[in-house]
Amino acid sequence: MNEIVLAADLGGTNLRMAAVDSDGKVLYRTGIETPRSENHKPIVASLIQLAIACREATKKDASVTAFGVAVPAIINTCGKIFNAPNLPELNGLEFSSAIASKIGVQVIVENDATAAAIGENWMGASRDFGSSICVTLGTGVGGGIVIDGKPLRGIDGTAGEIGHICVEPDGVKCGCGSFGCLEQYSSASAITRMAVELRDRYPKSLLRNKTGLGPLDIFNAGKSGDALAIEVFRRVGYYLGIAFAGLVNVLNPEVIVIGGGASAGWELFIDEVLYEIRKRAFKQPAERVRVVRAELGDDAGILGAARLALGK
Ligand SMILES: [Zn+2]
Repeated sequence: MNEIVLAADLGGTNLRMAAVDSDGKVLYRTGIETPRSENHKPIVASLIQLAIACREATKKDASVTAFGVAVPAIINTCGKIFNAPNLPELNGLEFSSAIASKIGVQVIVENDATAAAIGENWMGASRDFGSSICVTLGTGVGGGIVIDGKPLRGIDGTAGEIGHICVEPDGVKCGCGSFGCLEQYSSASAITRMAVELRDRYPKSLLRNKTGLGPLDIFNAGKSGDALAIEVFRRVGYYLGIAFAGLVNVLNPEVIVIGGGASAGWELFIDEVLYEIRKRAFKQPAERVRVVRAELGDDAGILGAARLALGK
């Protein structure tokens, strides 16, 4: 009989939970909107409640052996939350021990972007590769790194913050306190901001007078040939390519995986990404590295958390 683990992806908006077997098959899934409060109790209570529901739903198959949780936070090696910018009520929480005592199995907690990289490396776009980088273009830009099959966490658990690589030294102020971070030029929110900043230069653009502009509008306009939208996504690719060229020189990865909502604009930015990598990085690693689209969508974090719980 297969081993079964519980896996959760705790996001700022949604909390997803699944029971997953050792082949990476999702046996049962459930989820709710992330309950928000001034303290961590509603989130912890919901995680426990959903975990128990998943365990009950699959108890005929096998008993659950561990629980992996992906969290949008910097986490130390003992499972304590250092900093969760989007869920500040979790700051300082001894996450693993808060949940393990109620579930009765070991709880492994991991940064969500690193979990997504592990998930893609197990069941998704980088599954045939030992060394991969996974970048998620969402509200922010998340990054996870797997080297020789092992996640790179760093001594403080802060490694992989690709979204905060500087690509424009005197650029837009970032939430992290620095300036010109990749996140300010390649996230979904950056795409909207850049379109608004540039639209006076494009009087014929379909987007010029549109209210409530969002990344999907800009992507759709780009697909139909709108010059403003094409320029916005060219810039996304330019800045991603600068950051990737540095990563290629430092880490020599086999593959870079791009996921997240803003990766929908792939066909509008990928040529620029590849151009900048080849222009800037050393020839051999630049020619080797593949840049591919993520395959697991919203399941990347869950499957990464499951893989950690399986101890693979
Ligand atoms: Zn930053």
